[in-house]
Amino acid sequence: MLLAVLTCFLAVVVFTIFAGAGPNASLSKEFPWQFRLAAALRTPVLMFIVIPLSYIQGLRRNYRTWSGARARAALGDDAIMAKHAADVQAIVAKLTAWNKAGRPGKLRTARPSWASMSTKLGSGKDVDTYKIEIRQMNSILRVDKEGLTVTAEPSVTMGELTHALMPHGLALQTHVEMESITIGGIACGFGIETNSHKVGLFQESVLAYEMVDANGKVHHVTKDSDPELFYAIPWSCGTAGFLVSIKVRLVRTKPFVRVRYEPTRSPEELTARMTALSKMGDKAPVFLEASLRTCCTCCTCDTYCTCYTCCTSCTCCTYCTYELHVYMTTTPRLLPCSPF
Ligand SMILES: Cc1cc2nc3c(=O)[nH]c(=O)nc-3n(C[C@H](O)[C@H](O)[C@H](O)COP(=O)(O)OP(=O)(O)OC[C@H]3O[C@@H](n4cnc5c(N)ncnc54)[C@H](O)[C@@H]3O)c2cc1C
Repeated sequence: MLLAVLTCFLAVVVFTIFAGAGPNASLSKEFPWQFRLAAALRTPVLMFIVIPLSYIQGLRRNYRTWSGARARAALGDDAIMAKHAADVQAIVAKLTAWNKAGRPGKLRTARPSWASMSTKLGSGKDVDTYKIEIRQMNSILRVDKEGLTVTAEPSVTMGELTHALMPHGLALQTHVEMESITIGGIACGFGIETNSHKVGLFQESVLAYEMVDANGKVHHVTKDSDPELFYAIPWSCGTAGFLVSIKVRLVRTKPFVRVRYEPTRSPEELTARMTALSKMGDKAPVFLEASLRTCCTCCTCDTYCTCYTCCTSCTCCTYCTYELHVYMTTTPRLLPCSPF
């Protein structure tokens, strides 16, 4: 029995190697053999290693969000604020020690590069660095449902914020959709969402930052108290100091979003349409997003077809409101008609 299962599994793996290779699989001999082998094996590697690992990681993250929310609810507001104050003091103490020791190594957050969602590759986090741990600072400190603000520590993720805010019909004004991105990462990096044509970038929803600088001094920064630092923190990528909490504006959400797809057929048409829609002021769709596809799914008749002729001749789709998802055929390929 086991042998039969293993044989079937092996047959599936071999099949995916050949079926997944596709017409572009045979790379030029100029590439090293290791690279060509990896390219040839990409489909089984994705199917049998990457996707299961991603799934397990997703489950782990969901569990962390759920158990974190329970732990926070059990602790109570005072205990959360006391833990926050203690964590800030621990960072101040580490920076004071670093200064006293003659500033050995460059200051970095201890978050490993693999955990980060940034598209940059890790750049020597382990070489000549003095790491400050901020991962334990992952509490939502306060949600003001009437004043529409949330105060959170930097390692709180977008998934955790969604979990905490959505049941109350609330969301960040610029609520980045990727669950593992942290609020500290988008505050010190950069944050944008599909409603940014209406409400602006993430930094435009920030009301206050709490930051510890390299000297170990704690700053409570608003645009009135310290405009220079307030406007320097976004895009600073950690160079301004260590963010230890942030207060941002919330918006009320509706229970549903009506989604409308509108296909366009060229980069020019896509650009013109996106520009026109984003400039409609109050009447602009709340969310506006474009996806680039090399094939087409009709939003009305739901036909999926890789045939370019079918794709471009489909006339079902008409534009209405809210979210526009613009499909564009970037590299038209005339393929045999194969709807499914
Ligand atoms: C697949 C993918 C999809 C994405 N989609 C979106 C999207 O829809 N919208 C969007 O806006 N962005 C998007 N991004 C980009 C992502 O939001 C940014 O790269 C973001 O900065 C990553 O945040 P992070 O939590 O991983 O932070 P990190 O990468 O850990 O940090 C980002 C920067 O901020 C600094 N930093 C982090 N925490 C602190 C702190 N406490 N104090 C001081 N400095 C700190 C880090 O040193 C680093 O320079 C996407 C990225 C990927 C890979």
